[in-house]
Amino acid sequence: MQKKDRLTKITWQYTEPLPEETMDFLKGIAGDYAKVKINVYERYSGIASLGRLASLFDIMTQMRHCGLREQLGLPSVYYELAVRDAVSDIKGMWGMLKNKIRTLITANENLSDADRLYLRTVLKLDPVYAAILNREEYPMPEKAAGLDIETERLNNLLRRLTRRYLVRPASGRSDGFSVSPGGYSYRDGSLYLVSRVRRNRIRLPLKDDRECDRQIRICIRKNDAAIALPVNVRKRKHEDFQNTIFVHLGYRDMCTLSNGTIYGEGLGELSSARTERLMEKNRERGRMRQSYRDSLAEGDRKKAADIETNNLGELKYGRQKKKEQTQIESYINAGINRMLETEKPGTIVITKPITVNKKKSGYKPANRKISESPQGYVRSRLLQKCETNGIALVEISSRGTGSICSNCGAEGKRLAKGFVCENCGYQSSIALNGARRIEAIYTKSLSTKKNRQDDSWMPGNEPIPKS
Ligand SMILES: [Zn+2]
Repeated sequence: MQKKDRLTKITWQYTEPLPEETMDFLKGIAGDYAKVKINVYERYSGIASLGRLASLFDIMTQMRHCGLREQLGLPSVYYELAVRDAVSDIKGMWGMLKNKIRTLITANENLSDADRLYLRTVLKLDPVYAAILNREEYPMPEKAAGLDIETERLNNLLRRLTRRYLVRPASGRSDGFSVSPGGYSYRDGSLYLVSRVRRNRIRLPLKDDRECDRQIRICIRKNDAAIALPVNVRKRKHEDFQNTIFVHLGYRDMCTLSNGTIYGEGLGELSSARTERLMEKNRERGRMRQSYRDSLAEGDRKKAADIETNNLGELKYGRQKKKEQTQIESYINAGINRMLETEKPGTIVITKPITVNKKKSGYKPANRKISESPQGYVRSRLLQKCETNGIALVEISSRGTGSICSNCGAEGKRLAKGFVCENCGYQSSIALNGARRIEAIYTKSLSTKKNRQDDSWMPGNEPIPKS
């Protein structure tokens, strides 16, 4: 197995809601981008073009001079990427076709070992494969020289299978497009895209200040855009990280696993104690302010000045707040680290954040402060640590994880003392029942649909997050 210590992952960045003319611009570019791809599919996805796919340079030259770009009025930064995108789709299509044929060759009992060796060798050599498909002369590959085979019979089989299974890539989606670094720039928290008018860039204000210097993909949503940023994450050498763990993220205990282990126990008490202390501080500051005003009113300038020197308690309050925040953050980080070291997960399954007012907390920047609640911070740290450790973080819907009994599947009750199922008598903490439900739902979904996993980043293949 090839060991890669870096892998490309997609992270999503979001724009602010965009004005209609900006949305129209994006849709226009995406529409033309799709047209270019369809044009490339039509020209190069057939049997006659198999031998030409190796030279992207030649294809690009032809596409530059065919007049399509001028006809669409599409800037080169988009046009050329659309061509590349389409060529890589076509190559992917051929790759799948060859895999299909290889499977059929293996299963075909009328073939000898020598037959199979010949066919497999040909499938590896595009110029030879292309020549056979187009009935042209070709040199016998070295590996297949001297084999006792009926070449023409095998070539006919290859042509027949190829004709039967060759498809054109599905006409491209028109809900997004890729941009090379030359086609965008950043300024003042906004992304600027090359437009159809020279020197006139289209501004997309961003929700966070991350910047990228690689090819990005703009995905159009209802009234904003999601931007796929490829990031290199250092894949730490964790060959032993193979397990799948199912984690309930809770208020009281940070992480409860379906096997019963808890990491970050008592996080809720820690942060509620903090909240209480802050409230007490607030009351104290209120009293101090009042006392300041009273002193002024009473003409006690010295006392007022003393209070003022103390910054009305602001300084101490700020320091204390910061200190407690740091404590909670390090408690969270230590808990997550301990979980990863102990459980050695290759995959972590959690539930999606529950949406409040249709605003997903997961969309907030990773460096969000925990001043509101530590839960958002837990999620963002978990996501980041998974990325840097090459761990897949799977978020499933929280539906059916709360009130269903993880033992028998009946509707149970969430009481103060925990989860209780009156049907089978199962009792546990609400968090543990939730984690066990996550395990059950995820395991079931795996058996019904095959999970596709792909480390390599193909622009345009990733699902766009819903608006
Ligand atoms: Zn039950």
